[in-house]
Order: sequence, then structure tokens, then C-alpha cells
Amino acid sequence: MGTMLPCLKKNPSNSTLMGTLFILLLTSACFTDFQHVNDKNGLVKDDLQYGGSNDSGGVLNSLQARFDMQHIELELKILPASKSIEGSALLDVLVVEPLEEILLDLDSLLIVSKVHLSVKGTGSIPSRFLHVDGKLHVYPSLLLPSQSLVSVNVVYGGQPLKAAKAPWDGGFTWSATEDGHAWITTTMQGEGGDLWFPCKDHPSDKAERVDLKISVPEPLVVAANGKLISSSKHSDGWTTFHWRTSYPISNYNVALNIGPYEWIESKYTCIDGTVMPFHFWALPESRKKAEEALPEFKRHMAFYERILGPYPFRNEKYGVVETPHLGMEHQSIIAYGNKFRRGPHGYDWLHHHELGHEWWGNLVTANDWRHFWLHEGLCTYMQILYAEERQGMMAYHHAMYVDRKRIKSEHTLVPAEPASFDLMDDQVGEDVYFKGSWILHTLRYLIGKKDIEKVLHRFAYPDSDLESTLEGQAIRFAGTQDFIDTVHQVTGRNLDWFFDVYLYNAPLPRLIERLQGAQWILEWEVPEGCSFPMPLEVELGGHVTQHKMEQGRLVLDAETWSGAVLDPQCWILMENRSALMGNPYGESFD
Ligand SMILES: [Zn+2]
Repeated sequence: MGTMLPCLKKNPSNSTLMGTLFILLLTSACFTDFQHVNDKNGLVKDDLQYGGSNDSGGVLNSLQARFDMQHIELELKILPASKSIEGSALLDVLVVEPLEEILLDLDSLLIVSKVHLSVKGTGSIPSRFLHVDGKLHVYPSLLLPSQSLVSVNVVYGGQPLKAAKAPWDGGFTWSATEDGHAWITTTMQGEGGDLWFPCKDHPSDKAERVDLKISVPEPLVVAANGKLISSSKHSDGWTTFHWRTSYPISNYNVALNIGPYEWIESKYTCIDGTVMPFHFWALPESRKKAEEALPEFKRHMAFYERILGPYPFRNEKYGVVETPHLGMEHQSIIAYGNKFRRGPHGYDWLHHHELGHEWWGNLVTANDWRHFWLHEGLCTYMQILYAEERQGMMAYHHAMYVDRKRIKSEHTLVPAEPASFDLMDDQVGEDVYFKGSWILHTLRYLIGKKDIEKVLHRFAYPDSDLESTLEGQAIRFAGTQDFIDTVHQVTGRNLDWFFDVYLYNAPLPRLIERLQGAQWILEWEVPEGCSFPMPLEVELGGHVTQHKMEQGRLVLDAETWSGAVLDPQCWILMENRSALMGNPYGESFD
């Protein structure tokens, strides 16, 4: 038996923490003392290490908390020969509290040559700027009043960060096709859009609309988010593609995909009857395979719509674009680089996974990276449901069994404090996928398949009226507690004990067993102070019975139950799974 750790419960909400931080800043420190305030109060453990321009999220800077990103318009020339970009970004921000500085994120590899500020109704106002350490500080000559709409025009350019290992270590990928054409993509989920444009690099704020006016040399084509408004050929051999999305969008989802693409047009009828464009931008050499893949991709779409509700961005399009890296869930233009391979359960898992993020990530977005399991864990479980739908329960359990081996659970799945992407990557790692998915698997054991699907549907669309909206009204931020609330609403049960153990404590439950006289005693070991009344299935002679463990304890007659197998279908996420299965009478599972 291991040392009992105290049970950790749900944590204070972001807003409480941010409120505290804001008051501290106002009362005890100037902004240059930000680091000191954080350390002194223990709000951030290591923000020397986390939060730079190559990171994303974490504690939201109080200056950035005082404005809301409305609109981003990027007018950029992409220069493959020099692997550089040049142009401007026009940002419209709404001031929500009086603001003496507009603080933006922009990687220091890019050089800012000019910043111009104007306030709607007032016009142009003088300003200074300082671009240092990945931050673009814009100082207006007057205090910007609450509710003012401010336009910030930033002229900039340079060689943006090259992706070291896209899509995991992001940046620009400057690749080439077989016949030597430039093939360029962006991926920066972990680093944030500030690697190539000024923005507020925090998951809690989305631009409401984005316009991309991207110029590339012929014969290159730009595939991006939303709708193509125009493409204009210029006499100098360049073409400007104007893409627009009118849906709120996370900064990391704003994506460029540039290559000699062929545009394969297709249509899809959504579950609500909306007919939308369903397009694939493929390299010429992949055209045939891309055309052949479209029917399967549409089956993936139908699966998600049936379980979760309508595809959220159907007023614009669903797009897939071939990329030199594996893939990324860029909103309405999914990056696809899986080379049309099928996974062990007979379907293109990469496309299926990235498409799932249109609901888990793009429709419902974690307001802090510490809730990242809501994106990845839910997507991973959707894939396992798809394996079940295609191939039955054997495939379902096989997929769960394979994923179980990848769970580490060395840290809590949901950290106590706001977390940057890097912190999540370092500490939680792949648990956001596999522990997240296994939590849903064990939850299904408790509440049944019908309710788990209902939970997923209601978490995607809390209100059935939202399912009929076309203009992004259903897009929302959520945290882990919102998911728990949905489970409680759907089931009418309070399962806080379940979520406390699995989400807010790192050690997995252990099933401790011992023989005492004629008794076979089974007990759940969980962190001290947690309760864990997880019922247990026991198989004897091919017959499975479920036993309540309301006090976390079960006593069986040892002789009667000799040879029994505990949790024979592996429903319960617990420590030492494989040792337990092979050793039902063992006293030590280490
Ligand atoms: Zn994912």
C-alpha cells in the first residue's frame, strides 16, 4: 500500500483567482513588479519558465483582461524564397475597463516598424510602442475609456519561427512538393498565433471575426478559415486570397495553408438540413486519393452530428487541406497529413480526431489550458465510440485497453491553477488524451451508454435551441466544472466523488484485497478524505455480478468466490490494472 495522500477537491475558479490578482496589482505593485507579486503570493509556480512568446495562456495579464479582441484583419505577403512575411495587422479591440496600455503578444523574431492607433468616434490618437520579449506594448497618449472601440494597426514583418517538429512544436513549415513548389503551413496550438500576428495569446479570448488577405506567388493557392471572399490576380504574378470567418475563433486556429492545391468541391447535407460546402484542398498528386476519401470523411461528419448535434460552422464550410505535417484542428480548415492511411480499427483516425475538435475545442473551448482534457480526452473517446459503432464492443475494449497503457497520472489531470500550454505539456502530457478518455469510459460504466451520449450532446449544445443557430451563438467557453454540471443534470446524480478522485487527484484508485479467515475483503484505496463508492463487477463461472461498495468496501466469502475475476471487462480506471487481472488473490500489487 502506498502513502495516503490528502484528497484534493475542486479548485477556486479562474475568476476568483484573477480577481485576487487584479486587486493585488492595484494595491501593492506596479506592473513591472508583476513577476514579484506572482511569486510572493504563490499564484504562479514558475512563470520564469512558462508564459513566453513560444508558450500560450497561463495567468491572464491584467492589462489583457481589460480588453476584448473583436476583429483581426491580416494583410500579409508570404515570401517563400526568404521564408518571411510582411504586411500589417489591423486589430479592433473593445476596452472593457479603462486602459493605459494595450498589451499584445507578438514574437520577437518579427520586427514592428509602425503602430497606429485610432478610437472610433475620436479618430487617430498619438501613441508610442515598445516591442520587447515577445510583447508589443502600445501606449496611447490618453487613457482609453471603457467601451471604446480601438483600432490598432501594426506594420510588421520578418522571418517567423520555423516549426521544429510540426504540429507538436509549432511555427511555420516551409516545405516543398515533389515537383518543387512551395508548400507552407502554420501550426501553433502550443505557442499561440503570436508567432505570426499580434494578438492576445490566451485561450479565454477569441476574435469575433477574422479577415485574411494573403498574397502568394503563382501558382500557389491559400486555403484558410471560413469563406473565400475573393482571389485577385495581380500583374506582377502574385495572387491575393481574401478569406473571412465570421465565427469566433481561437488565435491558434487562424491558419495558413499554401501550396499548388487543387480545390476539390463537394457538398454535404448537415443533420439540420443545411447544405454546406465540404471541400478538400489537395496536392495534384493526391487528388484521386482525396476524392476517394471524401465519402469516408462525410461518414465521420454524420457520426459526430448524430451524437453531438450539428457541425458548428456549417454557415461557412467544412474544409480539409493536405499538409506536410500530421494534422491540426484548424477551425473549418482541418490540417490533414495522414496520407490517407487507416488505423487499427479500419478508419482514418487522424481525420476523425481532428474533425472531433470542431466540437471539442472549437465549439466548446477550454477557457484555460488546464481544462485541455475537454478537448483531447473527449475527442479520443469519440474515436473509441466510432470504433464501437463500426466494429462492435471487441473493438471498443481493444481501443481502451491499448490506451490504458499510455496513462501516467503523475500529476492531476486538471491543475489547481491557471496553466500555460507548456506547463500542461510538461506535467500532464498525454494524460489529457488517454486518462481523459478513460474517465469517460469509467463514467459510462456508472451511468450507461445512453446517458454518456446524452452528456456529450448536452455538453456540446446545452440548449436544443442553440442547435438551430447558424451564426456562432452556440460557441462558448467552458471549464471542467461545466462538464461535471452537465453530468449531474443529465443523470440527476451527484458524482463529485468520482470527479474529485479522477480529475483533481493524481493517484489512481487501487483495489486492495486481503484474505481474513473465510473472508475475501476488497477495499478501494484513494487519497485520504476522498470517498470512492465505485461498484465492482465480479465474474465467476462466466457469470458477471455487480456489487455495491458504498463505503468503498466489499466482503465476499472466499471459498464461494474462489477463482473469481474482478472487473473482468476493465471498466474501472484503477492502479495496477494488469497485475490485478492476473492475480486476483495477490496481496501486493507493486
Ligand atoms: Zn487532438
